[in-house]
Amino acid sequence: MTESETLPRRGLMFILSSPSGAGKTTIARKLLAAEQSLAMSVSVTTRPIRPGETEGKDYFFTQRPQFDRMVEAGDFLEWAEVFGNCYGTPRAQISEGLAAGQDYLFDIDWQGAQQLSQAAGPDVVSVFLLPPSIGELEHRLRSRGTDSDEVIRGRMDRARAEISHWDAYDYVLVNENVDACFEQVRTILHAERLKRERQRGLIEFARELMR
Ligand code: 5GP
Repeated sequence: MTESETLPRRGLMFILSSPSGAGKTTIARKLLAAEQSLAMSVSVTTRPIRPGETEGKDYFFTQRPQFDRMVEAGDFLEWAEVFGNCYGTPRAQISEGLAAGQDYLFDIDWQGAQQLSQAAGPDVVSVFLLPPSIGELEHRLRSRGTDSDEVIRGRMDRARAEISHWDAYDYVLVNENVDACFEQVRTILHAERLKRERQRGLIEFARELMR
């Protein structure tokens, strides 16, 4: 019998955070492509849609009054204001999926990671990606496009603020090489899936072996 037949497992919430420019999006994409039972948690946001983004895939885009109603109704597992816009993780879909053994990937900031850890403790695995150096981070941000020095300075300040929360995460990795870092992230996911407390059928199975 395969592991999934004998040991049905509860899904986990896999949080990937990093300052912008540390490679989080690339690692997240690679992980989603490689891991079939991992789905992206799609957040609700009040920020305007950017070119290339798709409603329902990148975010559910909404206006502030509707977002506030969802907060009031308790529709979010966590929510936070980030750079002047609101972002929230919808509760319903995630709760059902976890019970069915679905894993979710979260691209959320440190505030969301903290709230999710408090709300859903044992289901949460949090990983923080650091850039190899602050100079390299600035280089990556500059090479992205045509942002002015002022915009870059603002991004670097926000990056430093995000980095200051590194020690609240379960795992911290330095993203020096994207392929090596991806393999490390994947190893963490695989090991966490095997944790005793996620293996619902394990107690029964172990008892059977002892009979
Ligand atoms: P962006 O607007 O560039 O897509 O995202 C801005 C920031 O908001 C990123 O740091 C991202 O991780 C964070 N973010 C996206 N969705 C959520 C969410 O549902 N909750 C929280 N707390 N942060 C989020």
